[in-house]
Amino acid sequence: MGVDYSVHIGPYLTVHDPEGPSTFEFYTCVNPQCEDRFKEQSSKFCPKCGKPIELYKKACKARKSENFDIYDELKERLIEAFSDYKPRHLENHLVLVSNVRGHDTSFDPTECDSMAMDLSTVNVKADTEKFEKSFAKEIEKLKEFFGQKAVEVHWGVISYAY
Ligand SMILES: [Zn+2]
Repeated sequence: MGVDYSVHIGPYLTVHDPEGPSTFEFYTCVNPQCEDRFKEQSSKFCPKCGKPIELYKKACKARKSENFDIYDELKERLIEAFSDYKPRHLENHLVLVSNVRGHDTSFDPTECDSMAMDLSTVNVKADTEKFEKSFAKEIEKLKEFFGQKAVEVHWGVISYAY
């Protein structure tokens, strides 16, 4: 762990995506005496005990993002900022950054081995507005799917080791 670093400075999005109640459905034999109980079946009758196969619904927890393919839905214009581990306070959030080069003031550490950058002259408000404008379509799509209040635009630093 900690062999590579990724740093992003600039606008980013957080999308609140907590676990919510959901149901998992599948066709199965529900006969308590059957060895194949709860085994997924595609036939009308259980091949083991002969009882009719039923649609079984099981309560489970799921995140909305499980039904939202980020790369496909956002055309790879926005990507997840963290590869594996998220900071604790963002456990229930998707964190997205621009994947469009040359868009904002964020610097790409892969473009150079070392760098220093003076951020004191950056107009955070203007930069954030530029980001909101550039990604208006994607933000709208995220709001439609996750909820109007779930999506927030921030400006700051994202860093992680992997
Ligand atoms: Zn059975």
